[in-house]
Amino acid sequence: MRITDHRYSAELDKFDLAVRMIQHEARTGTIRACTGFSEDRIRKIYGAYFKGSGASAVRRRRGKSPKRIHQFVNSTPRQLEATVLAGLFLLCEAGELDDGGRISRARGTDRVGLGQRLCQAFEAYRGLHPDPRLSFEWAWNLYHSLVDSHELYLAPCEGCGGRYVQDAYALDYHRCPFCEMKDHRALPSA
Ligand SMILES: [Zn+2]
Repeated sequence: MRITDHRYSAELDKFDLAVRMIQHEARTGTIRACTGFSEDRIRKIYGAYFKGSGASAVRRRRGKSPKRIHQFVNSTPRQLEATVLAGLFLLCEAGELDDGGRISRARGTDRVGLGQRLCQAFEAYRGLHPDPRLSFEWAWNLYHSLVDSHELYLAPCEGCGGRYVQDAYALDYHRCPFCEMKDHRALPSA
């Protein structure tokens, strides 16, 4: 592959990723972090491909990404969906799990590759949960709370032996949301 071809294909990957992330209603700052595109460029892509194109459901989101880890653990249904997403991060090779339940960023991935894997995980999650409790931005925040700050980790459940998303500093009853819902026969409504 010639250098110009390679540069063209790398640029195309970034462009495709930006479009994919806009479809997921990712914030401009998040798209910038993955593609390196300027705010102006993202605005133009949004304007050219989404504004008035009939894709009225796609909203452009500005501002900061949400950041509150208790949102992932303070309700059983949300904790369950966060756990599904964390499992998909691992399946899509966006992260690696150690024996202690801590997830680290996948080695050897650049920011575009990471963005693609997170999109893949989020799309699979949307397939499993057509009425999702977690937006793309919450998924982004979940990922960073797992791999960067390690405020969240995958705790072991004494009931089923599986792992689930838990606050690393909270009192833990070692019951995963799947066992919790099975025991209480609770329907995911909260
Ligand atoms: Zn369990």
